[in-house]
Amino acid sequence: MLRQGIPLGRLFGIDIRLHYSWFIIFILITALLAGAYFPRNFPDWSTALYWGIGVATSVLFFLSVLAHELSHSIVAQRAGMAVKSITLFVFGGVSQIEKEPEQPSVEFRVALAGPLSSLVIGGIFWGIWALTRGVNEPAAALAFWLGWINVVLAGFNLIPGFPLDGGRVLRSFIWWRSGNLVRATRAASNIGIGIGYLFIIGGIGLVFWGYLLDGIWIAFIGWFLQNAASGSYRQVAVQDMLRGHTVSEVMTRDCPTLPPDVSVETLVHDYILGSGRRCFPVTEDSRVLGLVTVHDVRKIPRDLWPMKKVSEAMTPFDKLKWVRPGDDLSSVLQMMSSEDVNQLPVVDNNSVVGIVARDNLLSFINLRGELGMSRRP
Ligand SMILES: [Zn+2]
Repeated sequence: MLRQGIPLGRLFGIDIRLHYSWFIIFILITALLAGAYFPRNFPDWSTALYWGIGVATSVLFFLSVLAHELSHSIVAQRAGMAVKSITLFVFGGVSQIEKEPEQPSVEFRVALAGPLSSLVIGGIFWGIWALTRGVNEPAAALAFWLGWINVVLAGFNLIPGFPLDGGRVLRSFIWWRSGNLVRATRAASNIGIGIGYLFIIGGIGLVFWGYLLDGIWIAFIGWFLQNAASGSYRQVAVQDMLRGHTVSEVMTRDCPTLPPDVSVETLVHDYILGSGRRCFPVTEDSRVLGLVTVHDVRKIPRDLWPMKKVSEAMTPFDKLKWVRPGDDLSSVLQMMSSEDVNQLPVVDNNSVVGIVARDNLLSFINLRGELGMSRRP
């Protein structure tokens, strides 16, 4: 869901994106500040000043959340983990880090970096507030609110329910003590799910007490938390099931190849519809030129199918992501997710020896689940 968003540019080699839901929080905060908070506390400001300071505060709040996420990402990068993107959305930010940390100490540092940066930023804003108090009222008001919200941000994120930062700290601790990442994730996500339900119950309670908006908002955060907690546990459990198994155990081996000058029309009728397969390596003299998939075919208008060759429709080899027969399945799943593809060619000695698709991984997981082999001793 958070893959989409408006690209804002790159910082430290990381794509910064804005998810559409972020505008909800931006409008909400600006409206609450300019329409209620500032007028209540500073009745003699002009309307233009309320809105001007309101928008400025919201923008600085956005930069504070971005700095929080960047802190996680930079610490992760230093530890050798690639960070693809940061997406800011209605509940904060998400860093898309390409793999799970390999050691509890790394997870601990990555998780703690965010709340620490929020505390530092909060302290800086309160410093500005102390300096501008009695000198420049709007600047002091802006700095005070931002100092407060950054401390709240740090506090909220330190709640020990996975996948919040505090839950990650907790997980790293249990992981360090037990040496078992899956068990640590299960414990930390169960606490996350529990905290999510507490928020939902508390939110509903607030609605009955007459705090309609706050109640709905808190219940909504709770719903999001418990969803994210159960989702992250499933993900780690699946990774664990796949770990230690190789691509060669699940890949589809008999893999018909195509010469480059076959037309897309022939590809569709003689190869795809005849076999039900969704992707074909294109080869010449047993050299792999690229891979053509149903997805590539769909990009070509139907009336051009007889004219276009598969060599024009395929993804060329140098742009292709591929795996080796001996690669670990857990890394294959991570690669499919981060590259957003459904299948990867399996390459050995410069020739395609098979295809591994999401379906292969899925049936591997389902079969083990049915046979009761999903949990390790
Ligand atoms: Zn964080």
